[in-house]
Amino acid sequence: MNFRKTLVNLIPGPLVRVFAAPYVAGDSLEKALAAADKFHAEKKLDITLDILGEAETTESKVKAAVEVYYRALAALKDRPFCTLSIKPGHFGYYVSPDFCKANIENFAKACQAAGRGLTVDMEDTDITDWTLALYRELKPKYPILGTVLQSRLFRTEKDIDSLAGVGAHIRNCIGIYNVPASLAMTNKRDMKENLLKLTRKLVAGGHYVAVATHDVEYIKKARAILEELKVPKNRCEFQMLLGVPRDAIQKELVEAGYTLRVYLPFAEDWRDSIAYLRRRLIESPTMVFLVLKNIFKRNE
Ligand SMILES: Cc1cc2nc3c(=O)[nH]c(=O)nc-3n(C[C@H](O)[C@H](O)[C@H](O)COP(=O)(O)OP(=O)(O)OC[C@H]3O[C@@H](n4cnc5c(N)ncnc54)[C@H](O)[C@@H]3O)c2cc1C
Repeated sequence: MNFRKTLVNLIPGPLVRVFAAPYVAGDSLEKALAAADKFHAEKKLDITLDILGEAETTESKVKAAVEVYYRALAALKDRPFCTLSIKPGHFGYYVSPDFCKANIENFAKACQAAGRGLTVDMEDTDITDWTLALYRELKPKYPILGTVLQSRLFRTEKDIDSLAGVGAHIRNCIGIYNVPASLAMTNKRDMKENLLKLTRKLVAGGHYVAVATHDVEYIKKARAILEELKVPKNRCEFQMLLGVPRDAIQKELVEAGYTLRVYLPFAEDWRDSIAYLRRRLIESPTMVFLVLKNIFKRNE
């Protein structure tokens, strides 16, 4: 991991920026909104907007980041197809958990008043308990709130049990973080089979489920489960990251009446975008391969 980190950090910023370009919707809120509008107008896709930046350790940087989120919230006024996604690390968890909690709660209050969906992303396993406890506490007050579960973690089934009665809004994904084998599955197929199992469990628990994967085989399997369980189309959706070429399956899902939400990250400072991709490259050794494969691969 340290070797990989050193190697990735040696890649010059401008080169990382070239790699990052398809995965980031530009360097301003205006560009991100223009991209969101285009996706919605041309492909009937919904959007969740994410402002890049993670693990801030100074109060002033967190306040600046949160301020951009308030601007984004105001700008989304006439865009009912957009929600927002935030990260606890970006909202000040590493300054202090209480500071972060206050920032998230205040923002959730503002989103609730605006009727705007807000998802608290799931980060590394040091923060899973805290994020879920916060979610359980805030969700009854702010029904617009959603969060994320990672199917690679052995704990996730129990985490769903801990959400009983909450009526949670869950993004169900395999998880991006490298987690020790004592805590998580190491085989991707196992993680994806578990994603399906958890989809069933979430539906049975009365939760809203957003299936977030780009694996077409598993998208189809998840869809079959949703149809078998007769989940209404307003109780589930599919999600994908900006830049992963999945036009055909996106079109198929939208035509079948599903919401397909694209996670659209942007940063006002390209350094944040570059840092974002560097972190992804460090976390996931297969990322370079994926990036290259997607550049040359036809759409699925
Ligand atoms: C909307 C959304 C939100 C997410 N939020 C979180 C979160 O809060 N916390 C968290 O831990 N994880 C999050 N993830 C990441 C997720 O957990 C997975 O790491 C990621 O989606 C890759 O897993 P996969 O199921 O697509 O399967 P994979 O087998 O990893 O990918 C299937 C195929 O999709 C393509 N692909 C997948 N990811 C990428 C990529 N990044 N770049 C280029 N091509 C790619 C490749 O062609 C690959 O072969 C999110 C994912 C999505 C779609």
